[in-house]
Formats: sequence, C-alpha cells, structure tokens
Amino acid sequence: MNKIMDGRLVRDTRKEELKKEITKLKEKLTLVVISVGEDPASKVYVHEKEKMACDVGYQFINMHFDDIEEDKLIKEIEKLNNDVNINGIIVQLPLPKTLNKNKILNTISPLKDVDGLTDLNFIKLIRKEKGLIPCTPKGILSILDYYKVDLSKKVVIVGRSELVGLPLFHLLLNRNATVTLCHSKTKDLKSYTKDADILIVAVGKKELISRDMVKDGSIIVDVGINRENGKLYGDVENSSLEVASFMTPVPGGVGPMTVISLMENVLEAYLLQKKN
Ligand code: NAD
Repeated sequence: MNKIMDGRLVRDTRKEELKKEITKLKEKLTLVVISVGEDPASKVYVHEKEKMACDVGYQFINMHFDDIEEDKLIKEIEKLNNDVNINGIIVQLPLPKTLNKNKILNTISPLKDVDGLTDLNFIKLIRKEKGLIPCTPKGILSILDYYKVDLSKKVVIVGRSELVGLPLFHLLLNRNATVTLCHSKTKDLKSYTKDADILIVAVGKKELISRDMVKDGSIIVDVGINRENGKLYGDVENSSLEVASFMTPVPGGVGPMTVISLMENVLEAYLLQKKN
C-alpha cells in the first residue's frame, strides 16, 4: 500500500480546480509580494510564489527594497490597500530586525491579507468566522481532507509558532479534533507523540521525531524544512513511515500545499473584497 500523502498530487488537483474558477472571472487578479533585504531562502520562496501565481493566471508584482524605513514601508502598504486593482498583499518574512513585524503586518488590509497573519484574521479563525487563513495550516487541512483523514481523533502538534502550530491548533479544534500543542519547553515529548493518532511536526530540527516516538498506525504530517549539504530533510525520521499508516514526505508534502493555499487565498480575498 502506498503510505505517502503526496502534496504535489493534491496541489496539482487543486490547481486545476482553481484555474477553472479564475477563468470565470472578468478581471485578472493581482498578488503583490513585498520583500526587504537579502534573505536567500526568501528569494527562493518568492520565486516559487511568482511561478505559481503566473501559472494559475494571476498578475504578480514583486516589490523589493534593499532597505526601507518603517514609515515609508507602511505608506507603501497603505497605497496597496487603497488600490482596487490589488487583491492580495504579502510581506515576505523574515523582515530585517530594525522593522516592527507586527505593526507592518497589521497595516495590511485584512481583506487583502492572503497570508492570514493580521490580528483580525487570527481572531476570525479562532471564532470560526469567514476570514483568510494562514497558508501552511490551510494546506495541511487540505491534504488531510484529500486523504479523507478523520480529524475527530487525538492530534498532537509539535511547534507553537504563529505561522503554523498556533493557528493549526485552533483550526483542528474547530474541526472537533482533541488537540495537544507541544513546544520547546514540553517535558518528555515522546510521551505525547507516542500517543498521537495524528502527529503534526513543525519545529525546524532535522529528524527530531524518531521512529520510536511514533504510534503504530498513526498519520504523520511533517512540516519541517531543514537544509543540509544541499539536501532537504524533515523534522521526522523517514523510517517512521514503517510504523505510520500515512505520512507526508519532505520535499513534496506540505511545501506544495502551502503555495497552492496562497493562490486559493487570493481568489478568496477577491471574493471578500467584492462583498465589502
Ligand atoms: P518557528 O521557529 O517559528 O517555531 C518553531 C517551534 O518549534 C516553536 O514553537 C518551538 O517552541 C518549537 N520547538 C523548538 N525546539 C523544539 C523541541 N526540541 N521540541 C519541541 N518543540 C520545539 O518555526 P516555524 O515557522 O513554525 O517553522 C517550523 C518548521 O516548518 C521550519 O523548518 C520551517 O522551515 C518549516 N515550515 C515549512 C513550511 C512549508 O510550507 N513546508 C511552511 C512554514 C514553515
């Protein structure tokens, strides 16, 4: 039996569905990515977003600043907020430490916040109100749904970041999962992971989860991306697949789902903008 939950396959399926929706629109939607400074990983991610955006039929604008003052960046975002031709705005993270990340992210109009990182969209997510959901948690739910995974189980998430673990905790709770959120200060991590029917790991430490930490027959989602000597590794040891019933690979699991979820958010943002 194939035990791999294939992110590229699910992405391609969803991409075709999205393209069909987009061709029905009269307008061409526009996504803007703002990046500041030189971060090699960010460059790769921005390029991936551009490629997929053009592929599905969006216009893509890359606004890059080698350096910019906070006030000026905020003014640039406000201009984009007020421009009816712009449907989605992303500020590529990480930002240089001199800039106040929360202040900048919260300048983005919640209706154009396609990364789902404004405070308002987080509150909406907790309250199950219609808003824009962060792309990685959204992608994780999409791949679990594609493989018809019953979420009303014992779910353990490792990693409590605002980008992945924390929003995912609320999304899964809202889908009737019984969720435990583990983090760097959790004592005896294995006692939690070993008990998980569904284990989701978003830490950023190569093979933190070894095969002996995984429950027999469990479902594993490996979010981690760790680069070593030009190769990519997840947070979960590959041999865990011998014990698990299903697992996402790295690469080719959550990564492709994150990018397609962003593209879906651009369409959702446009529909929200039409309503408001
Ligand atoms: P982060 O650094 O913001 O958060 C890491 C979390 O891991 C923290 O909550 C911390 O408490 C926890 N942690 C650290 N050490 C731990 C330990 N020993 N035991 C248990 N918990 C521990 O990272 P992030 O932005 O959430 O990203 C996590 C990983 O997921 C990274 O490898 C990142 O590259 C990857 N990621 C992948 C995608 C994708 O699309 N595939 C998207 C986002 C993030």
